[in-house]
Amino acid sequence: MAAHGTPSAGTHILVVEDEQTIADAIATRLRSEGFNVSVASDGPSAVATDEAERPDLLILDLNLPGFDGLEVCRQVQAKRQVPVIMLTARDDETDMLVGLGVGADDYMTKPFSPRELVARVRALLRRSASTPAPVIGGDPSAGLHVDPSTRRVSVDGAEVHLTPTEFDLVRVLGEAGGAVLSRDQLLAMVWGYRDGSGARTVDSHVRSVRRKLGDDVVRTVHGVGYAFGERG
Ligand code: CA
Repeated sequence: MAAHGTPSAGTHILVVEDEQTIADAIATRLRSEGFNVSVASDGPSAVATDEAERPDLLILDLNLPGFDGLEVCRQVQAKRQVPVIMLTARDDETDMLVGLGVGADDYMTKPFSPRELVARVRALLRRSASTPAPVIGGDPSAGLHVDPSTRRVSVDGAEVHLTPTEFDLVRVLGEAGGAVLSRDQLLAMVWGYRDGSGARTVDSHVRSVRRKLGDDVVRTVHGVGYAFGERG
């Protein structure tokens, strides 16, 4: 079921997966939705294919021959910003990867449906193309400063590197101006999906944002969700 108004023709996706049946299923589904698809089955060929073809999005399995998806993500993101959906075998792998600050924007734990993957791909492509919102924090030299036009974040004038997803999480919470947002709302606003199945992903990214910007940037409202903290 193709989402109306979301162009896929001409959008090029690189699928990196060493399990042939999974790679085939993903590629077939994406092609049927109008995407151009390349497939790589190990770490080194994934990096080489990314460099040669410059795809618009990567679907990247974590456990690969050669070197793993973590290393592929690092090497690719060191050269250019590209949206990445990481495939993992277990939820705790996702937590570990988010904690490491890997540049992936979304995670899916196997097994998943190709239909759900396509929905995540479309959501991520929309998110990557979205237009900037107003700046948070008036004075770049004092406190937390978030500039959506450059996607830069600084604390007391020192720039802090956030992954694209971490940036969007901070931006969305900041724009809510201290109002509490539930995990489901954050999933819809930051990740672009609404089934609530990624609540752990929200928690992992909040932990990662706190580690980089300070604990007081995001406030936990127990039983409800998260809000922008004192710092902003
Ligand atoms: Ca694998």
